[in-house]
Amino acid sequence: MYAKSLMRAFERAAEIILEADGRATALTGAGISVASGISAFRGSQGLWDKYDPLEFAEISSFKRQPEKVWEMLGEMLAVVEKAHPNKAHKSLAELEKKGLLQSLITQNVDGLHQAAGSRKVIEFHGATRHLCCLDCDWRWVNFKISESKSLPPRCEECGAILKPDVVFFGEPIPKWALLEASAAAEKAKVMLVIGTSANVHPAAEMPILTKRSGGRVIEINLEPTDLSGPVADLTILGPADQVLPEIIAACKRLNSNE
Ligand SMILES: [Zn+2]
Repeated sequence: MYAKSLMRAFERAAEIILEADGRATALTGAGISVASGISAFRGSQGLWDKYDPLEFAEISSFKRQPEKVWEMLGEMLAVVEKAHPNKAHKSLAELEKKGLLQSLITQNVDGLHQAAGSRKVIEFHGATRHLCCLDCDWRWVNFKISESKSLPPRCEECGAILKPDVVFFGEPIPKWALLEASAAAEKAKVMLVIGTSANVHPAAEMPILTKRSGGRVIEINLEPTDLSGPVADLTILGPADQVLPEIIAACKRLNSNE
């Protein structure tokens, strides 16, 4: 059982979402996938604790020594491939199905939103399941490391070592993703910010865009962030895989009271 104040917060979130009448979007980050066994890159036990991002996540270092970077990528892709969506991913898919969420912007590269059933997903930082060739633009769609016979995987056209189609440090966010995400943020009457401190640009601008266009921001995070207070209209502190199902339950209660 939750404290009364928390129950009220779930209900308030549900009210705001229902008032938006479908014009809602979400911005998700690493925090939403932690319950699926994918540890956040930053922070203790993150991937960057083990591998120096300067050495492994910079595009210049991938270009210089792709075999070495694939040691880290191999480990990362294997973890992602085994992961299953959790209740937070499933709740967002349910909101979309109910017509209450029109899009979802994610900073994650794990594909778990799609695995949960979300359809309108804007992958801001790309996805690990697709590989691309830096030399000739050949793409390997839905690569599976568990079925891969040799690593690192190579381009079938030119033989170059392939790169997961994710945004490395030093690479720009794909232009179409930025355009789509900005449009979604501006259109939204409410943005749910989930499992991200939203301090990495340009993802950080998305809640601000919603706010400037007159929309509201609901934040669901374990700890307060820079958004709490100045930007967020409502901050709920707690794990997303517990909070989101409660908000959906509150939506159902409100709807049945009408
Ligand atoms: Zn190629």
